[in-house]
Amino acid sequence: MKIAVEGCMHGDLDKVYDTIKYIENTRNIKIYLLLCYGDFQAVRKGKDMDSLNVAPKYREMKSFWKYCSGQEVAPVPTIFIGGNNEASNYLCKYYGGWAAPNIYFLGYAVVVKFGNIRIGGLSGIYNARNYCLGHHERPPYNDNTIRSVYHVREYDVHKLMHLEKLIDIFLSHDWPLGITDYGNWQHLIQQGTLGSKPAAQLLKKLRPSYWFSAHLHCKFTALVEHEEGGPYEVQYDKEWLAITRKLNCVFPLTFRRGDVGRTKLDMQDCRQWVKSRMEDRGAKPCEFSQTAPPHKPFDSYFFLASQYYCHSGYETLSFIFYLLLAQLIVGSPRNPQIVSFLELLDLPYVLDNASDSRDTPPSLPQKDDYSEDIPNEDEDDLEDDAERNNENRSS
Ligand SMILES: [Zn+2]
Repeated sequence: MKIAVEGCMHGDLDKVYDTIKYIENTRNIKIYLLLCYGDFQAVRKGKDMDSLNVAPKYREMKSFWKYCSGQEVAPVPTIFIGGNNEASNYLCKYYGGWAAPNIYFLGYAVVVKFGNIRIGGLSGIYNARNYCLGHHERPPYNDNTIRSVYHVREYDVHKLMHLEKLIDIFLSHDWPLGITDYGNWQHLIQQGTLGSKPAAQLLKKLRPSYWFSAHLHCKFTALVEHEEGGPYEVQYDKEWLAITRKLNCVFPLTFRRGDVGRTKLDMQDCRQWVKSRMEDRGAKPCEFSQTAPPHKPFDSYFFLASQYYCHSGYETLSFIFYLLLAQLIVGSPRNPQIVSFLELLDLPYVLDNASDSRDTPPSLPQKDDYSEDIPNEDEDDLEDDAERNNENRSS
């Protein structure tokens, strides 16, 4: 699908649509969509000029009025955001909407779909002074509000920051801050400090395939390589943690049949819980902890030859002592990693109950009896093979 893009249009719709027709005819292609990223200047009538922050000598009606009055129809579906030269008095500012047949205004911050393409946009330009304020401006505007009305607001950026699924194309009027570092900045008069801070935050979060900005009336291309799901390390999966947390209460640890089928999963609250917990600590797995003393080759001779290896044997002996002590205190030593994991999910440590035989019917054989009395089907073949091998070796 071919898409045409246009920076500051300043009301010259006739010219742009003529150019599109020309390109379609000479190259024998079809252009399905026109995107315009600010300073669209959708002026319907002379009075709208009063809301336009533009020097008197640039106050011209241009051609939008023909398209909203029905005199002309936009030959290509057109989507636009607002810049700093808009008739802010009437555009469906908050939620977006049709400015004219076939011409759609995205509003202050909106995401729409066109075919399979997901398009997002942020209207206006960044100004730190008004960023955190509400949308308080109402027409008729005074000298201050005619400017502040197009200043980007934190609320709209905050809404966009909540997007989880990827965006294909994003539009902002002013450039994302720091974007000049990703292109041939030597050709620019100004670099490094120009641009919008919230746009830069959105670029990092939304990682769109394409981002278009206008405002500076110059051509500049930049290539930003988004981190593809990095960092490259093992991380907990939030959804899986939510499932684990949810189903831990029916973790079957006895001979009895588990009651998983009867558990109704209402995951929404649990997902939210895990998400907020992960936001605090990150998704890095709990620390590794050693659960056995380091293997030393001569340790196997310890009991036979302890009098000769008295010193190294001492460490092993103290570890065995620790294990015995741990056994006395808690039944069996707990793996510190599992303990931290369960603390993370705010779950009780139930694995100790695994050795609890209260729920095991007395008539049933205990675990240790299995190997001799009840053949384990899975291990049959292996045991047979092992026996045969032994026989072969001894014969
Ligand atoms: Zn502009």
